[in-house]
Amino acid sequence: MFSCRVKVFLETMLESGIEEIFLPRTARMKSEKVSNAKKELLQLRERVIRCTKCDELVQNRHSVVFGSGNPNAKLVFVGEAPGAEEDRQGLPFVGPAGQLLTKMIEAIGLKREEVFIANVLKCRPPANRTPKPEEIKNCEPYLVKQLALIQPNLICALGTFAAQTLLKRATPISSLRGKIHDYHGIPVLCTFHPAYLLRNPSEKRRSWEDLKKLRSLLGS
Ligand code: URA
Repeated sequence: MFSCRVKVFLETMLESGIEEIFLPRTARMKSEKVSNAKKELLQLRERVIRCTKCDELVQNRHSVVFGSGNPNAKLVFVGEAPGAEEDRQGLPFVGPAGQLLTKMIEAIGLKREEVFIANVLKCRPPANRTPKPEEIKNCEPYLVKQLALIQPNLICALGTFAAQTLLKRATPISSLRGKIHDYHGIPVLCTFHPAYLLRNPSEKRRSWEDLKKLRSLLGS
């Protein structure tokens, strides 16, 4: 609707002989930031999809799951590592846990396309085993760069691995969840991983408390 009005406006301007319009400096800076983040994320993606740092992961992967969503997202979700479906499609959180994550995002009034979704590991560990410390060490710089480019207002860490990697703490997710932590000046809310919630549906109540906190932080 909005873009349609903009199109009509621009066509009217063109018809009346105006071929250039000057955006206010703040609007220009914002749109430059958006397109730079998008361009640099695409460049980073090109590097990441060719990564060969972890022999076992490289030999077993079908795709590298870079992450997807809005390059200018206010909120970034960080999960652990791609599963079977993510490895097949090359996209994050598209399996059963992903369907629950989509519902969690919608429950806080957002759409999947509005947020960015990434993982600590970009390749699927065989048989969904837990990531090895050296794999996290190899892959973490990609996540760090993604977050530096997107510059979100808020990060939601999904589960133990994401929370512990971002916060550099060995504390269990049960203690980290529901609280606001800090990642280089960006607030981080930790909550249960959706795959854990599928296995433990009684925890959805506590997860909902975390989501409400996330929603109010986004609004503030
Ligand atoms: N679990 C994750 O942590 N990430 C995915 O992308 C899918 C399942």
